[in-house]
Amino acid sequence: MSELERRDKNQIDRTIVDTPAKWDRDALRANLLERLVFLASEQELELSEKRVRFQIEQDQSCRELIESWSRSDDTQRIAIWKKLLRRGLESLQDLAKTCVRCGQCCRKSSPTLYLQDLELVRSEKIPLSNLVTLRKGEPVTSPFSQTPFYLPEECIKLREKPGATECIFLDSATDLCLIYQSRPYQCQVQTCWDASGIKELTSQTMLTRNTLFAGLDTLVEIMNDHENRCHFEMLYELFETLKETQGESVEELLDALAFEDHYRNFIAEKLNLPRDSLELFFGRSFSKLARLFGYRVEDRPDGSHVLLPDESLARPSES
Ligand code: SF4
Ligand code: SF4
Repeated sequence: MSELERRDKNQIDRTIVDTPAKWDRDALRANLLERLVFLASEQELELSEKRVRFQIEQDQSCRELIESWSRSDDTQRIAIWKKLLRRGLESLQDLAKTCVRCGQCCRKSSPTLYLQDLELVRSEKIPLSNLVTLRKGEPVTSPFSQTPFYLPEECIKLREKPGATECIFLDSATDLCLIYQSRPYQCQVQTCWDASGIKELTSQTMLTRNTLFAGLDTLVEIMNDHENRCHFEMLYELFETLKETQGESVEELLDALAFEDHYRNFIAEKLNLPRDSLELFFGRSFSKLARLFGYRVEDRPDGSHVLLPDESLARPSES
């Protein structure tokens, strides 16, 4: 028996202990789904209930076992339950090659845009206000491997819902994508049943602000100037110094926060840039990024800022 089979058997045997043989067929289905979602997650397969239900419904052996439930006695039901879990888990190792629109992948992270998405943005099928730039050097966590890393180059992503990793275009009530016909390239190639789509993305070119706004020379020049004067590494060093000096360099840090804040607002006003798209033009503000270092910035009535420890643990954005 292989290690995987041994682990499955242990998991299934643990599940048997409190199995009520008195379930009707609906209760059997409900419990089966719940247990399979759990057992799959123990095998690092994060599948939604909708995805698991679809898989079970497609599997003839599972269908027949469920069918036989009503005419089986208590002892037989224990055996059926055991077989169902085993067969169900096997079936989940080989997912049907179809999207059941469960929204699970859209809840892990919003997509990064690639060159293939240029027209979607230029044609405003995806409005600028729904985009955010993550700048070179920002810490992020891969939604696929959960590995944290620093972005080697900037990328543009769809926004996520406040305080969540869920894509802004996912309708939480229906699990459906609100821009399905115009969804980005990543959403088209990334599937939960085949990892090759994710690998394919690594050979593609990510969309950058310079490409997106090519031809708008003044804007490109200003975005690059902002990047040179207020790059993420600078913020990182300021917080490192704050730590080393045990807070003595806080004024220097606050000056940098104020400068960056002033820069983006001043330029926005001068060029009449839409305020709801500033995080695309300039990335997230220094004040907002302070959370990555465990701080939050509070505005005082006199217009100055104060730096306070942030009690809620900051989660790096995902890419
Ligand atoms: S591709 Fe995404 S939405 Fe489609 S079934 Fe898989 S996890 Fe669900
Ligand atoms: S754009 Fe649509 S398909 Fe892509 S992550 Fe968002 S909700 Fe999902």
